[in-house]
Amino acid sequence: MAAKKVLIVFAHQSSGSFSAAAKNAAVEVLTAQGCTVEVSDLYAMNFKATATAEDIKGDIKEAENFSYLKESRLAWEEGRLSDDITKEQTKLTEADLVIFQFPMYWFSVPGILKGWFDRVLTSGFAFSLEKMYSQGVFKNKKAMLSFTTGSLESMFSPTGVNGDMNVTLWPLQNGILHYCGFQVLAPQIFWAPSCASPEARQCMLEGWHTRLQGLLEEKPLSFIPLDSFDEKGFQLKPDVREKHASKEFGLTVGIHLGKPLPPHSQMKAGC
Ligand SMILES: Cc1cc2nc3c(=O)[nH]c(=O)nc-3n(C[C@H](O)[C@H](O)[C@H](O)COP(=O)(O)OP(=O)(O)OC[C@H]3O[C@@H](n4cnc5c(N)ncnc54)[C@H](O)[C@@H]3O)c2cc1C
Repeated sequence: MAAKKVLIVFAHQSSGSFSAAAKNAAVEVLTAQGCTVEVSDLYAMNFKATATAEDIKGDIKEAENFSYLKESRLAWEEGRLSDDITKEQTKLTEADLVIFQFPMYWFSVPGILKGWFDRVLTSGFAFSLEKMYSQGVFKNKKAMLSFTTGSLESMFSPTGVNGDMNVTLWPLQNGILHYCGFQVLAPQIFWAPSCASPEARQCMLEGWHTRLQGLLEEKPLSFIPLDSFDEKGFQLKPDVREKHASKEFGLTVGIHLGKPLPPHSQMKAGC
């Protein structure tokens, strides 16, 4: 098998953090497997998080009514995106697998990583109306979220105070990763490392080490293929709806058809 290329997009300020230990484990295990591993250490790079007109070299076409979506797409087509964006896009183009390693901030990613999504996943480069979801630009690549929380696992359950983690993951895994076509691997969640004993933290890292050894062969999470939707209004086709009418659970967290959410669908492959 040809050596795989892995990009780790790392968003933590400290090299002594648990997140850094998780990132280092991924570098170590995947490199030992013969992968080429590249790390984008966003804080160390002082990565710009805001999507602004400065991301575009040369003339802005409609400066008075600036549209980041339109201007960045045009700049991508004409090779006029800023160098920091172009560098990340090159890394992404070359990668077979992208791992996003971060601490959960406000039920989501830290702003610096959101900025990476906003700026690097340019319209045209990462998605278009013709190329999205299962037919997306990155359909031959895999991506996954690997993150730490401050909350205990029980707090992110369907009866827990934070609600179901599957719901929290949906916008990130479906709305960003799968939208751009990535095959999304199940997330790696390190629950509340700061509340855990040193032994329990060690155990979490060992579990990650073990998972990393088979990561490239893992089956991705399942999402609904784009051809299940009509081309006009992107509504589920009647035959697909009919097929699922008698089923107990909705199709996905988002496309739930008014039924109970399919359990673990954003956490485990095959659910
Ligand atoms: C703005 C903001 C918003 C937040 N929003 C949320 C939220 O919505 N939901 C939520 O659940 N949490 C939230 N948090 C909490 C945050 O997610 C956690 O603080 C973070 O995930 C902890 O991960 P860390 O890598 O920073 O851990 P650290 O604090 O770096 O580490 C935890 C412990 O592991 C130890 N450690 C470090 N390296 C190793 C190693 N190699 N082996 C063993 N132990 C090690 C450290 O010494 C420390 O004791 C938020 C925090 C902030 C700042």
